[in-house]
Amino acid sequence: MSEYKINTKCVQSGYTPGNGEPRQIPIIQSTTFKYETSEDMGKLFDLEASGYFYSRLQNPTCDMVAAKIADLEGGSAAMLTSSGQAANFFAIFNICECGSHIVASSSIYGGTFNLIAVTLAKMGIEVTFVSPDATEEELNAAFKDNTRAMFGETIANPALTVLDIELFAKVAHAHGVPLIVDNTFPTPVNCRPIEWGADIVTHSTTKYMDGHGSAIGGAIIDSGKFDWMAHADKFPGLCTPDDSYHGITYAEKFGKEGAFITKATAQLMRDFGCVQSPQSAFILNLGLESLHVRMPRHVENGQAVAEFLEQNDKVVSVNYSGLKSNKYYERAQKYLPNGGCGVVSFELKGGRAAAEKFMKNLKLAAIETHVADARTCCLNPATSTHRQMTDEQLLEAGIPAGLVRMSCGLEDKADLIADLEQALAQI
Ligand SMILES: *Cc1c(COP(=O)(O)O)cnc(C)c1O
Repeated sequence: MSEYKINTKCVQSGYTPGNGEPRQIPIIQSTTFKYETSEDMGKLFDLEASGYFYSRLQNPTCDMVAAKIADLEGGSAAMLTSSGQAANFFAIFNICECGSHIVASSSIYGGTFNLIAVTLAKMGIEVTFVSPDATEEELNAAFKDNTRAMFGETIANPALTVLDIELFAKVAHAHGVPLIVDNTFPTPVNCRPIEWGADIVTHSTTKYMDGHGSAIGGAIIDSGKFDWMAHADKFPGLCTPDDSYHGITYAEKFGKEGAFITKATAQLMRDFGCVQSPQSAFILNLGLESLHVRMPRHVENGQAVAEFLEQNDKVVSVNYSGLKSNKYYERAQKYLPNGGCGVVSFELKGGRAAAEKFMKNLKLAAIETHVADARTCCLNPATSTHRQMTDEQLLEAGIPAGLVRMSCGLEDKADLIADLEQALAQI
């Protein structure tokens, strides 16, 4: 499907039924698969043949949806995971182990920050956080001999900083490691990080890809471009025989295009089991079928709300990269020419108390720990998603305590603005 435009890929990629077959992706609700001989099945276990034997490793429904996402991002292979958290954990842990180091943007999702700063640290994986605005020199300085990956978010949740993907990729590659980019907020409709040099892309499909707040999920996409064998000393897991898989060397047997996802499936999914259910994958695919229609409306509503808030005297500042006043406007024009997403953040005069009062009075926008679905919602990160962070860490990540994050849904923008207007009037 790779010759088609993104709009067509959203609708059609991943599944092409044969004569008389179901038009919609079949939900293969089966844990296991039947074989005539143990020899047939043995070949699957040895990764000598491709096929299905147990849905913890692979399931046809999940694979069809993963193939669509790979096509949308312009990658060579992809896999679904149970959540965005699992996707980021797998993407990093697939190439890092105890004793490894990673360089990560400090401006990332709270859950990912915690995963990297606390949980991976317990596993012996060390991190150096860098500003998303660091210069090439500063980025270079963060690298060590044991650095194995660089990580950032295209548009960070909730700080809404925009990553200089090309610069991060250049620095990562100069040090012989891949750049992993979490592309959850723009989705491949608005940005395809692989086109800017990213090697691995991750998603919380829970957000815009699903788009209706229906199913938790994640995805990992490999660009198929990183040459693991050229840096074999850094990536023994990919470039030396895997004893737990009959001595297979993933980078040799599956090449640049297949090694990363095959290893993540055969080892990490086998051992950790963070699978997406076929039901969830089916729901995700329904979301993907309209992703290209929904994203422009999320952007239109986000832009309108941001412009309205910027004019209101109860608002200290508005953070939306589609505003000319925004620090990331130029960078967003480059990486997100059709707009980024529907998430806007802003700081109200009166800090935390004003934010709470304002949110309580909103009628359309609900208070939710969620973003990126059809219905507008909002939250105060300092008292919810980011409450495990210290004040210094919050500031470093660009999240003042009185910040409100608003995810503009697919309602009429005039109704959203009227709702904001009445709630602001009550502060
Ligand atoms: C929500 C989110 C995650 C985590 O995804 P879950 O599906 O909730 O596990 C990771 N990265 C970003 C940018 C997110 O917005």
